[in-house]
Amino acid sequence: MGDGSLLPVFRVHRKRRHSTLLPDDILQRILVFVVLEDGCSAILRLALACQTFNKIVSQEHFQQEAHFRWLDSVVNWERLSKRHRQSYRKPYTISRCSRLQCSQLYKDCGSGYQGNGQRGVLVGFYSSDDNPGYCSWDCFLDDGGLEE
Ligand SMILES: [Zn+2]
Repeated sequence: MGDGSLLPVFRVHRKRRHSTLLPDDILQRILVFVVLEDGCSAILRLALACQTFNKIVSQEHFQQEAHFRWLDSVVNWERLSKRHRQSYRKPYTISRCSRLQCSQLYKDCGSGYQGNGQRGVLVGFYSSDDNPGYCSWDCFLDDGGLEE
């Protein structure tokens, strides 16, 4: 140096990682808490945040845990019969809508307690699944659900 020229500044690109110092099980508990605060839609947002979060929230057991924590926040199971608990304290499935033009994947809760996954928020209780195999009532009707 000493010739008066400025050396270009090189920026060293380090591989960016979400290096969480938390063990996976603690991180998982925190993410379940986030889902309970914001509802199921948080799962998609968390999945897009980083690979670590994506890996955790994509696991079926993570989604089931969030679901059961939500169910337990809206239902006082101790006041209900064992049979009721066996029938309605159940996981949901991911199904594909039977209407071909739709064919979307949807959260299929069947009959029972419905909600958006936010702690303490219950949309309703349905004793039967009025549009089985369809993502919505609209898809059910468009496919001729009430005909016959
Ligand atoms: Zn549909």
